[in-house]
Amino acid sequence: MSCRRCQGLMVTIRLEDAASSTCAFSGWQCLLCGEVTDSGIEANREGHGEPRRNGARPPGTVPVGFGVLKRE
Ligand SMILES: [Zn+2]
Repeated sequence: MSCRRCQGLMVTIRLEDAASSTCAFSGWQCLLCGEVTDSGIEANREGHGEPRRNGARPPGTVPVGFGVLKRE
């Protein structure tokens, strides 16, 4: 397996869940850049594809519905 970031050599490491020390699983760590991943992370990356815009309004723009209060 090669690193997703730098294509370096990745070695198997043992990861432990911080919440429960009994739950340990294996992952991979890159020898060059230190990237750590595991099968769960890889599965999530495969399912997401390219990042997309989050739909947040650009800075400086007026929120929808803002400023429509009726003045008597
Ligand atoms: Zn790397």
